[in-house]
Amino acid sequence: MAAPITTISDSKDRQGLNLIAAHSHIRGLGVTPDTLTPKPNADGLVGQQRARKAASVILQMVKEGKIAGRAVLISGPPSTGKTAIAIGMSKGLGEDVPFTMLASSEIFSLEMSKTEALEQAFRKSIGVRIREESEVIEGEVVEIQIDRSVTGSNKNGKLTLKTTDMETLYDMGTRMIDSMTKEKVMAGDIISIDKASGRITKLGRSYTRSRDYDAMGPDTKFVQCPDGELQVRRETVHTVSLHEIDVINSRTQGFLALFSGDTGEIRSEVREQINTKVAEWREEGKAEIVPGVLFIDEVHMLDIECFSFINRALEDELAPIVIMASNRGSTTIRGTNYRSPHGLPLDFLDRVVIISTQPYSPDEIREILAIRAQEEEIDISPNALALLTKFGQEAGLRYAANLITTSHLLAQKRRAKEVDAQDVQRSYMLFYDPGRSAKFVAEFQKRFIGEDGGVTLGGVN
Ligand code: ATP
Repeated sequence: MAAPITTISDSKDRQGLNLIAAHSHIRGLGVTPDTLTPKPNADGLVGQQRARKAASVILQMVKEGKIAGRAVLISGPPSTGKTAIAIGMSKGLGEDVPFTMLASSEIFSLEMSKTEALEQAFRKSIGVRIREESEVIEGEVVEIQIDRSVTGSNKNGKLTLKTTDMETLYDMGTRMIDSMTKEKVMAGDIISIDKASGRITKLGRSYTRSRDYDAMGPDTKFVQCPDGELQVRRETVHTVSLHEIDVINSRTQGFLALFSGDTGEIRSEVREQINTKVAEWREEGKAEIVPGVLFIDEVHMLDIECFSFINRALEDELAPIVIMASNRGSTTIRGTNYRSPHGLPLDFLDRVVIISTQPYSPDEIREILAIRAQEEEIDISPNALALLTKFGQEAGLRYAANLITTSHLLAQKRRAKEVDAQDVQRSYMLFYDPGRSAKFVAEFQKRFIGEDGGVTLGGVN
C-alpha cells in the first residue's frame, strides 16, 4: 500500500482524454449555486433547463453525501445533451469524488466477464478518503496548560481548551501567554512552558508572520494529548478508489496494472479482504467512504444479466450513484424477448429516477454550434452559422457540429479567414448524415453486401 498510487483526481484527468473533443466546451451545469436555477446559456450548456435543474439537484445531494446506491436515467432523443449533462455534473463534483464513465459496449470484452467489468466500474466509482496523521512536527509543540482565570501566573496549569480551531486556539494562547509575560509571544511561536514555575521559553518561530496560519496548511490540526500537552500534527489525505486498492493488493496484477489499465479479473477474496480492511479503517476513523458517480452511456446495450447485477450492486453498502443514459423508446431488453421502455427491465425501471431531455429549438441549436465553433477557435460567418443551424435541425446537432470542422478545412483550402456558407454547403455534399446515408443504402440496396446474401459487389458474394 506504500506504493505510489494514482489519486482520484489524476485518474479523472485521464478518463477525460477521449472525451475532450465532443464535450470539451462543457465546464459545469450552468446553474446559480444558491438556488440551482439553470441559466439559459452558461458553462458551455445551452437550454435543456429542466433536465439541468434536475441534474443539479442530484449533484447537490451527491456532494452532500446524501445519496448513494440510487439510479438515475437520463432519457431523450439522440444529441439532446444527455452525455453533455452527465459531463456537466462531473465538473461540479469535488476534486476527490470519483466519476467513472462507461459506454455499455465496453463491458463486452474477451478479457473479463461482463459482471466483472461492471464490478470494476462500480468500485472505480467509490472513493476511500484515507487520513494519515504524521508524526508530531518536530519543535512545533505548543504547551498551553495555563489557568485562564489567574492572570500572570500559572498555578495549577488548568485550562481546558474548547476548540481545536487553529486560529481561535492561537488567539487564546497568545493573549493568555502575553498577559503572563513581559516577553511578547506571537502566534506561531514555538514555546515551552515550565508547568511548575509558569516560565515561558521561546524555542523559535515556525512562521514569519504572526497570522500566517495558512502556511501550516488546512490539514494541520491540534491534538490535545492525555497529559494536557498540545501538539501540532499534520494530516495528509489521499483519496483512492476501491478498485485501485483492489488492484494494488491483487498479487497477480500488482499496482503497475493501474497504469496499463490491464487489470484482468480480480479475485473475490481480494475484494472481501479489502472491504474488511476499509471497514476497520472507517471504524478507527482513518478512512471515510466517498460515494461517487458511475455514468453508463447507451444503457440499453446492457443485457438482463447486467441489469440483475446492477440491481444487486445498488443494494450494497458501498454503492455509488449510477447515472444512465438512453436514447431508446420502447425496445427489447437484451437477452430476453420482452420489450420495455428504454430497454430496461420494469423492476429496474421502477427504482430509477428519470430525467428527460427534449429536442432543441433552432435558436438553441445555433447557440450550441456557435459555442462549438468558438471552442475549436473557428471564425464563422452569420450565413454559415444559419446554414449549419438548418442542417442541425434536419440531421441532428452532432452532424452539424462535425460540419464545423470539415467546413473549416475547406475554408482554409481557399485561404479564407472565416468559414462561409459555401464551405458548409460543400461539406454537406461531401459528408452524408445518417438520414441521407440510410436513404442511399435503401436506394442502392442491391449493390451492397447484405445479410440476406445474393448481393454482389465487384464479384464478391
Ligand atoms: P446520444 O443519445 O446520441 O448519445 P446525447 O443526448 O448523449 O446523444 P450529446 O453527446 O450529449 O448527446 O450531445 C451531442 C453534442 O452536442 C455533444 O458535443 C454535446 O457536448 C453537444 N451538446 C448537446 N447538448 C448541449 C447543450 N445543451 N449545450 C451545449 N452543448 C450541447
